[in-house]
Amino acid sequence: MPRVILEGVTKVFDGPRREPIRALSGLSVCVEDKECLGIVGPSGSGKTTALRLIAGLETPTAGTISLGGKVINGVPAKQRDLAMVFQTPALYPHMSVYENLGFGLRIRRCSKQELDKRVREVADLLEMTACLAAMPIELSGGQRQRVAIGRALVRQPGVLLLDEPLANVDPTLRLQMRKEISDLRRRLGTTLIYVTHDHLEALTVGDRVAVLRDGLLQQVADPFKLYRRPANVFVASFVGSPPINLFRGLLVRRGSELFLIESHSGAQLTGAEKNWSLRLQGNAFVDLSGYVEREIILGVRPEQITCVDAGTQAPENTSLQARIVSVQTAGPDHYVRARCGNSEFVARLPSCLGIQPDQAREFVLATQEACFFDPVTGKSLF
Ligand code: ATP
Repeated sequence: MPRVILEGVTKVFDGPRREPIRALSGLSVCVEDKECLGIVGPSGSGKTTALRLIAGLETPTAGTISLGGKVINGVPAKQRDLAMVFQTPALYPHMSVYENLGFGLRIRRCSKQELDKRVREVADLLEMTACLAAMPIELSGGQRQRVAIGRALVRQPGVLLLDEPLANVDPTLRLQMRKEISDLRRRLGTTLIYVTHDHLEALTVGDRVAVLRDGLLQQVADPFKLYRRPANVFVASFVGSPPINLFRGLLVRRGSELFLIESHSGAQLTGAEKNWSLRLQGNAFVDLSGYVEREIILGVRPEQITCVDAGTQAPENTSLQARIVSVQTAGPDHYVRARCGNSEFVARLPSCLGIQPDQAREFVLATQEACFFDPVTGKSLF
């Protein structure tokens, strides 16, 4: 199975008044043989453009795309060893599932026996053998999407490109189909590029995930690294729900300890509502000593915040006194929004803690596992 390599791929479209629209800028990424690369980013970040360029449906303005070691910039879409599945499955309404699956092979003049063998193999793989005689109108949204994927697979492409394949599938089925797609890919050993705007979907399906913003690659990494060691504030905030909490503060040294003191860019507060100050517990990933007397951003995930129970004590200077703003139920957990000084944060906490709006509570932030960013560039300090 082939590797896909993009080197400095740029795509500039002509806008309605012939103004340039830079959809993708210098994208370089290598998708390994049999790997699944998730491409994720907000609307308009260039995800579909990247996929269409690989498929040969668009021509790059600059850069090269290679497949299996050969540059394919000028190779027509039909001659590329890949298949693409679009967001809305465009099945032929007057053809049965069997005919839809076999259509691509029939126009390639595949023998009847070979066509039948491949269609039945794919139907079996997708657990759709019982539906082979059905017409598209009789299928659910998820089944239609499965036929669309099957139609791509039946051609046995080296690379499968999926563009938001689950966007029109209902949320319950989406969870199941995400798993089906990852299982299927492992069984087939196909190289897969999977575009989605849903960060959770990308993290579930992808061996690695590329994050795009305004046509620029922000980071490409395995899901764990992307979540725990994001390259910048954008990636940190885009990946994760509820989003990471960002605390802006001045880093100071007191004796042998480092403290983060809330920046006074907001109101300077006194009394019960005073600005916070937090002793940073030795961070395993970054040496902050070069940033003393500078502003930095501390990023803490909602699940890295705990609430100090009555009767227990947090290590000295490691907790924040905060007032609860709201409590939102999310299954067995609560998303607790709290305010401390000029900062608001969300903690993901077990619902059994009985936290109520307007209470004053003490929270500990696991700063030893947190991320730190430069407030000017937004880049991670790692
Ligand atoms: P979405 O998640 O909304 O599908 P996306 O991340 O896939 O977005 P693209 O569809 O690749 O983003 O679009 C990237 C940018 O390129 C957008 O500004 C879009 O308007 C522009 N664009 C895409 N295709 C064309 C085109 N054919 N002509 C002009 N501009 C285009």
